[in-house]
Order: sequence, then C-alpha cells, then structure tokens
Amino acid sequence: MKKQIKNVDILDLQEKDRWRRTDVTFEDGKILSLEKNFPCDEVYDGKGLTLSPGFIDVHMHEENRNDIDVQDYDIAECMLKMGVTTAMGGNCGSEKTEISQFFQGIDQYGSPINYCLAAGYNSIRKRIGIADTQKPTAVEMEKIHKELKRIIDEGAFGITFGIEYNPNISTEEILEALKPFYGRTDIFAAAHFRYDGNRGVESIEEMAYIARMSQIPFEISHLSSCCAFGNMKQGLQAIEDSLNEGVDILVDAYPYDAFSTQIGTSVFEGDFLSRWDVPLSNIVLTEAPYEGVPLTEEILKDARENYPTMLAIAHVMKLDEVKHSLTKPYVMVASDGLYSHHKGHPRGAGTFPRVLGDFVREGTLTLSQAIYKCTTLPAKRLGLEKEIGTIAPGYRADMVLFDPKTIQDQATFEDGQKPPVGIHQVWVNGELAIEDNQVVSNRLGKSIRRK
Ligand SMILES: [Zn+2]
Repeated sequence: MKKQIKNVDILDLQEKDRWRRTDVTFEDGKILSLEKNFPCDEVYDGKGLTLSPGFIDVHMHEENRNDIDVQDYDIAECMLKMGVTTAMGGNCGSEKTEISQFFQGIDQYGSPINYCLAAGYNSIRKRIGIADTQKPTAVEMEKIHKELKRIIDEGAFGITFGIEYNPNISTEEILEALKPFYGRTDIFAAAHFRYDGNRGVESIEEMAYIARMSQIPFEISHLSSCCAFGNMKQGLQAIEDSLNEGVDILVDAYPYDAFSTQIGTSVFEGDFLSRWDVPLSNIVLTEAPYEGVPLTEEILKDARENYPTMLAIAHVMKLDEVKHSLTKPYVMVASDGLYSHHKGHPRGAGTFPRVLGDFVREGTLTLSQAIYKCTTLPAKRLGLEKEIGTIAPGYRADMVLFDPKTIQDQATFEDGQKPPVGIHQVWVNGELAIEDNQVVSNRLGKSIRRK
C-alpha cells in the first residue's frame, strides 16, 4: 500500500540546504517518491509542517533486556515520543544485555524504535573475569579479542570504552584491545573520557591519540560533560588539530548543563568536587529514598554504600559552552539518555526537541543545521548514510513531522520523562507510531545489525 504525507517541507541535504514543499510517498517501509501528487492509496495531511528524517540517537543507554519477553520499554518509549526512530545502545563501555539476546527480544516482540548496539568494552572485561584493578594478561587479552570479534560479527557497529568508569584501563590497553581492528572503517570506536572538568582537554587528547593510532573512525562521547567547564574552547581546538591531520573523529553532545550517572561509580570518588568548582548540593539524587534530594556528605556516603546504582544528576556544566560546541560541524546531537525505573535526567526524553526548539529559535543553529546533526551526521557515523538519515527515494521511511514554531522539550529534572510538544507524527519503518503526541504503536522498531 502506497502512503503519502501531503504538503510538507523537506530538506534536501544532498543538495546543500535546499528546502522544498512537496508530498512524500512511501511503500513497504521505504520512501518511494518526493514528487507532488504521486499516485498513492492513502493520504495523510502534512499541514505545511516540517518532515525530517527520524532522529538518530547514536549515544544512549539501552534497556536491560535480560528477560526478552518483558513487554515494558522504558527509554525506547521516551525516545520514540521525541522523534527518535533509530538509537544505538552499548555506549560508555557498558552493554546491559548480551547482543544476541537483546536482538532476539526485539526480533520476537518488536520495539518502539529501531535499535543498534555497540560492544561495551568494560562489560566484556568484567564478563571475562578481569577485576577492575587488574591488567588483562596475554591470555585474557586473547579472550577479549575473541569476544569483540564475535560481537562485531553478530552485528555490533563498534566498540565503546568507559574509561572514567575504570581508570585502570590504560591507553595502551585500549590500543591493544583494538589492535585486531586497526584500519577498519566499517566499524567505529567510541569512548567516555578519562577525566572531565579541569582535566577534560588531556582526555580529549588521549582519545584523539587512540583514533590516530588505531585508524578506526572515532566518536568522542558526550563532549558537553567533558569540557563545558570553562575549557570548551581548548577542547574543540584539540579535536580540530586532529581533524586537520586527517584523523576521523566525530563528537556527540547533549544540550544540557547537567550530567547524570550512577552515584556508586568512580565519577564520585575522592575529591571529585575539585574538578568542577561547585558545591556538593549541585548534585541531586533521583530515586527513593533520596528522590530530588541534593547531596550532603552523609547522603553521599549512604547512597554510595547502599544505593550505588541510583542515578545522580550533577548540575556542573556551562550551557553557553555546550551550545558553542553544538555549532561545530563535527558535533552530533545525541542524548546519552539513561533511566532507572522511569526516573532520570530529562535528556532521554527532551534532547532532540530542545535543540530543534529553543536552540534553533534563539539562533544557536539554523533548522537545517540542527536536522543534519540529528539525522544525516549520526547516520554517517553508523555507516548507514545510504539507508537512514535522509528523506530520499530508497531510504527507510523513518520520519518525524513537526512544527518548527512549537516543537519543544517538556521533560524536566523533576519529571524526566515528560514527552515534548510540537511533534505531530512519527513514522517508523513506514508505519505510524505517534500521532498528535499519542503513541499509536510502540512495536514497529526492528533490530539493525551491521552488515
Ligand atoms: Zn558516558
């Protein structure tokens, strides 16, 4: 059946920023025609709104799918409501579920969005039985290589490292782990930095060095939480120095001045406040018994001991620096979304509408730049630029119809999953998933394996 969304503004990114008012026709999950009045069977009114490729969130933290028949989706549902149609989990070194099991659940039951995964190095290291404090032996490194190869062969798009989460992972170890993949451009490597705040720039330099040595396309994860501490300019300069040498680096960033992670992690070890220059009370916990409660010394101690997986939100970054980073052509929009029991930082439900709303309307980015960073650029990092991230014949019919005048995030630090406004339709694989901010179907998403 040929479906058509009539009367929409689409952006022709191949032709450099050309907007055109037309009709988009699609069939069997693929876009068929961009011609006006193309013959079709079913027509939807696009009301002269903007039709963007579905947003691609290349950095988020997927569900835990150890029970594959669990029907409840937490973050994927929030993703869909904000217009994300494809997301990649397995970031920051952390795989929540074995890849085959994760995909099996989606293949069997569907998912709100299309899901990709990366191999999470820290999780693999743990699974093999290497203590955080130990270096892998030669035999263990062989096991790591075998495991990474298996996961890549099963369809993972890359390998991610959570260096800050285990500071004993040295630069040498990362390069050793990547060695069998040196020079491969059909995958990518990504890292959550070693240090944030006043040591952010040296962390960028370390990641750029890994990218240069391995010659694997690289993604610097959530730059905003690494270098928006008064040192963004130097951080960007370090990245640009590498780009000028021909190193393949892209960067992802989320549009908030607060980061979020588990309170029990090494992020909150030792004299962590000295890196950020803020009081302890700028860090707020998210779940009972400390939901919405700012840290004190006693609460910090209790939470780390007794609720180590509880998410904390740290209001420590500078928003003007976050915005400045997003103006750079090599910076993609990505959420780093992470929830625990439907609670957490609003980025998992608001990132894309926030950039397309506030950031565009105030002039930080043009609408076409913002769409590019939410779609085409992340599709490139995944190597899927010929399949998703563009509205053109042959591309997957993943699309978002929104009103550029009203699109806006609504999720807050108090209500971290509140859906955005201004999104009229979301299409996943050519089927209607969201209409007028209401979920029509949350089982249209598929697993996407690297080919
Ligand atoms: Zn991270």
